[in-house]
This record gives sequence, C-alpha cells and structure tokens, in this order.
Amino acid sequence: MTEILNETPDKIKKTANAIKKLRPAYSKILDFYEKIFTAQEKSAIKTEIKPAQLADDIISIKAKEKFPLFCLSEFSVDVNSSRKLFKKICKIINKSDNHMSSVAEVIFAANENKKIDFNELYTALLHDDDASFGNIASKLKTDRDALAFITYNSIKPSLSIFAESASKYLDKDNPWDKGYCPVCGNSPVISTFESDGKRFLTCSFCWHKWTVTRLFCPFCDNREAGSLHYLFSEDEQEYRIDVCDRCNKYIKNVDTRIITRFVYLPLEQIATLHLDIMAKEKGFESGVPLEFQV
Ligand SMILES: [Zn+2]
Ligand SMILES: [Zn+2]
Repeated sequence: MTEILNETPDKIKKTANAIKKLRPAYSKILDFYEKIFTAQEKSAIKTEIKPAQLADDIISIKAKEKFPLFCLSEFSVDVNSSRKLFKKICKIINKSDNHMSSVAEVIFAANENKKIDFNELYTALLHDDDASFGNIASKLKTDRDALAFITYNSIKPSLSIFAESASKYLDKDNPWDKGYCPVCGNSPVISTFESDGKRFLTCSFCWHKWTVTRLFCPFCDNREAGSLHYLFSEDEQEYRIDVCDRCNKYIKNVDTRIITRFVYLPLEQIATLHLDIMAKEKGFESGVPLEFQV
C-alpha cells in the first residue's frame, strides 16, 4: 500500500509537469521535490531491509488494543543505501535555490570528511531523541531542522519498505478505522477518496495507507456530522479540506476519482500548499506533526 515504491521516476516527472501546467506558481517547489522524490524512488530499488517480524500473541494483543504494530525505533533502515541517498539529497538542495542550500553544503562537507556517524544519526531520529539529534547538529555546526529534513528523507525508502512488510500483520477483515497509522502510530499527512468512494489516510511518517470511514476526524476521533465540515474551491473540485470544530484541525483530501492524470501523493501534498494557507486563514491548524510539514 506504500505508493512511493511502486511508481517510476517517469511518472513522477509527468505528474509534476501536469501540475505545473495547471498551477505555474508551484513550478519552483515542484522542480525541487521532483528531484527529491525521483532520488528516493531510485534508492528504493536498491534498498534492502530486514522484513518486519512479530510473534502471533503480540499481533493479537496489538489488534485488540488498537496499538500500532511497531514503535519507530523498531523500524529497520538500510544504512548503506540511505547514506548514499543522504549525499544525493544534500547535492539536490545545494544546487537548488533553496533556503537550506548553504546548510546542505556544510552537511555535505561533513559527510565527505567522515564526520557523520549514520548509525547514531538514524538512531537519534527513530528514537525521537531530540537531545541527541540536537547534539549531532551542533557537533556538525549545522542547522537542526535542515539536518532532520535530509535525514528523514534519506531513510524514507527504508521506512516505506519496512511498513509494507509490516502491513502483512494487519487484520484485513477488521478495518483499522482509527486516525493514527496502524503500522507506526503517526498522524496522517493526507486523505484520499478512491474507487467505490472509499476513504483512505496516508501516514506522515511511513506512508502506509489505510482505509477509514468517510465522516470522521482523524485527530480527535470526532464522528458527529454537525461539527465536521469541509472547505473547497469551485475551481478545484478534486481537492477539499476536511475541518473539525471540536479539535480545530484540518486535513487535505484528494478525490482521486476526479483526477485523470496519475496521482502521486507526495507531490499532491506539496502542490496543495494553497489549501493549507486557506485552512489556516480560517483559523484551523494542521494535524500533521511539525517536523513533517513542508
Ligand atoms: Zn506509519
Ligand atoms: Zn477533530
């Protein structure tokens, strides 16, 4: 169910071009992310990780209690392929006209000088260990957020492949129907309507996609129709913003049944930043954790 691994760089390019034609204001940011996503796709093909493993009794307890299958610290990462992708992402950022360009140059140089311990770096990120991650950033004399962006994006192929291997443990007969990811427990980054009108949420961390009821706030589990609404623009019927009056959060929704071109969710997430602005202007907050916001 993890789309990022199944699609080719060619399709990403065509999709990015189609969106750029529709919304030229996104050209620069899409040029940047198209390169990042393409590098991730190419890296994914060469990424090898230890498949997820869980004992039967643990699986049934987790399913019963609605606990996600794995903690982030249990995710496997192919350090070798991630390290190569890390270097590539530094180069992409450095060559682009991006606010992180000069920082990426410092990080790239630190890597060339073998000053980065990737096991330590990836462990700090996966253990959500802010203090250690901050220490690594200050040792490298670099910006913490830029380092986090590059680090996360360099392990994203591993995370998606691990999540895909983990999804075999999910109960296909009992839909999860919760607002947090059944594999890793993180919040969804985007919502979609797909064939038969089914609604799916996609995880902001491991990009696993799971099905949920249509009328429901993933952030506070509100299921009361009266306090759930959506915002939309007549010009863009394929998108809407689902908002919740109870927790004041929103999630963007893509109706993939209306879009005739190929849909690549990481690109949709980037190419709909105007919807984030619209939701925030109306007083709603993003439900996506800060570190995963663009
Ligand atoms: Zn997840
Ligand atoms: Zn809510």
